Amino acid sequence: VSASVGATMVESGDEPLSVIERADAAVYQAKRRGRRRVEMFDKELQRSIEHDAELELALRQAIQHGELRMYLQPIADLNTGLPAGAEALVRWERPGVGLVFPNDFIPIAERSGLIFELERWMLETACRRIAEWRLVGQGEGMRLAVNISGRHLIEGDLIADLDDAIAATGADPNLLEIELTESQLLDDVARASTVLSGVRARGVKVAIDDFGTGYSSMTYLQKLPVDIVKLDRSFISSATTNDFDSTIVDTVVKLGRTLDLEVVAEGIETVEQLAYVIDAGVSLGQGFLLARPTPAHEAEAAIFNGPLFDRDEILAQARERGSRTNERVVAAQFGLM
Ligand code: C2E
Ligand code: MG
Ligand code: MG
Repeated sequence: VSASVGATMVESGDEPLSVIERADAAVYQAKRRGRRRVEMFDKELQRSIEHDAELELALRQAIQHGELRMYLQPIADLNTGLPAGAEALVRWERPGVGLVFPNDFIPIAERSGLIFELERWMLETACRRIAEWRLVGQGEGMRLAVNISGRHLIEGDLIADLDDAIAATGADPNLLEIELTESQLLDDVARASTVLSGVRARGVKVAIDDFGTGYSSMTYLQKLPVDIVKLDRSFISSATTNDFDSTIVDTVVKLGRTLDLEVVAEGIETVEQLAYVIDAGVSLGQGFLLARPTPAHEAEAAIFNGPLFDRDEILAQARERGSRTNERVVAAQFGLM
């Protein structure tokens, strides 16, 4: 048994409730900093609570005032170089601040419960694109993936939200995917599994995002109904230089074949990385080298207009660069002698 302790000084005139609130904030901080410790409520904690409260209020208004934007990042079929679809990524166009990235507000949205509304908006906006693509006769078969928070999956009513988005837009659910980050699935695997079965019963595909970064990646594949794994970009970025990471990539490709899962390589930034994942047999790829996330209409131009890369050219370029690197190594060795 271990304990986390939060403490605060009692000032004269303090309301009992506010003393308890401060101690509670301190104990929450103790847990966040790794548990089994004592935290005092101090000015810094006070400021961070105020900052979070301000951000939450602003985000609440942002959702109501239509300040959210849906960016799309194309995903390529690595066998052909052709676009296979895109991932929807939320942005906040905050007046007076500029473009705010999800890592700066998704945690607040999750803590405050605003995530439900935010993701309902993303789901509906994504479904609207899917329906419109069919209407204008473009991007046939293109899939669109929406990120869903673990809290939405476990505590929300994801099935109803999906049904609403599909009904409101007339989108084909077979072209929709949801991405879940594994670290958030741990909370309640049984519930997650039930909801995900309902999601798949509607034809919507399920992807595990940032695969390999959590503690239980394999357990999820065993226990949850999943169609796609997205290999975290940390493995891709060092697959060409680190034996361990390249082995992970190869292993996940094998796993995908055995379990009939699609594998997506995330975060492809260089020609070498792209050539590596092509050679390894990864089926889909995403990354700045192929296309950056852009406002939906800009990304659509790329998605509708042919290949994102030329497979033969990439492999040839990588070979050429590879041999040059080898020559340099040989020269250095001679230099040493
Ligand atoms: P993610 O789902 O893993 O999305 C991929 C992130 O990697 C995106 O960051 C994308 O811009 C970035 N990325 C793509 N290619 C490359 C590359 O080649 N190199 C590097 N260094 N980065 C690359 P972004 O848009 O900042 O999103 C960060 C995270 O925020 C996402 O990670 C996702 O977990 C979360 N997120 C975004 N939108 C939503 C949403 O609507 N709901 C929830 N719950 N989370 C969201
Ligand atoms: Mg994602
Ligand atoms: Mg990811």
